[in-house]
Amino acid sequence: MNIILLGPPGAGKGTQASQLEDERGMVQLSTGDMLRAAVAAETPVGLQAKDVMARGDLVSDEIVTGILSDRLDEDDVKQGFILDGYPRTEAQAHSLDTLLAAKGMKLDHVIELVVDEDALVERITGRFTCANCGEGYHDTFKLPKVEGVCDECGSAEFKRRPDDNAETVRTRMEEYRTKTAPIIPHYEPKGLVRRVDGMANIEAVSVSIGAVLDAE
Ligand code: AMP
Repeated sequence: MNIILLGPPGAGKGTQASQLEDERGMVQLSTGDMLRAAVAAETPVGLQAKDVMARGDLVSDEIVTGILSDRLDEDDVKQGFILDGYPRTEAQAHSLDTLLAAKGMKLDHVIELVVDEDALVERITGRFTCANCGEGYHDTFKLPKVEGVCDECGSAEFKRRPDDNAETVRTRMEEYRTKTAPIIPHYEPKGLVRRVDGMANIEAVSVSIGAVLDAE
């Protein structure tokens, strides 16, 4: 099963995608993670993307579609994938149709996490991850059980995304409203769109997504 998770920054796409990886063996394809890895490795793509990402703007369709296309050629995606953060523009939605057709793949669902945008700034600015294993935490909603120690791997190193500050978040929201939300009508006529309440707690959201995936 191949799905897209759609929703503004902070809607919980990454959290839900990693739960689907754990529970169903699907593969999370986060273009944001791929770009952050490229920035950290200082590849040519990373060097081009770094400042754009720091501002909260979108990286060019050409770059992002290129890295996604390469990733889709790897074997593990045949287990089923979750697109998290792609497509983000109408051009990317069209590119995705072309890519999937060329690779003999198809989409089963586009799941929109419906959220109240006012709550998102708090969600985003409070989040941090384990620098070693990537487990996600939050200053208000999910602190490590032992202060300063990762629940999963015991590391004491944590990190925050440089673009998770209040000012950049506003730009990222605006990008979502003007460029990403308008792609939903691209999928409506195909009957693929399912809406899930993204304001419920993590477990409840994951139950709702599971119900969509198990429905047919
Ligand atoms: P995310 O981790 O999905 O919040 O993405 C972080 C940043 O990476 C975004 O603010 C963009 O600058 C860039 N990015 C991630 N995915 C895309 C995409 N599909 N198209 C353009 N830029 C992207």
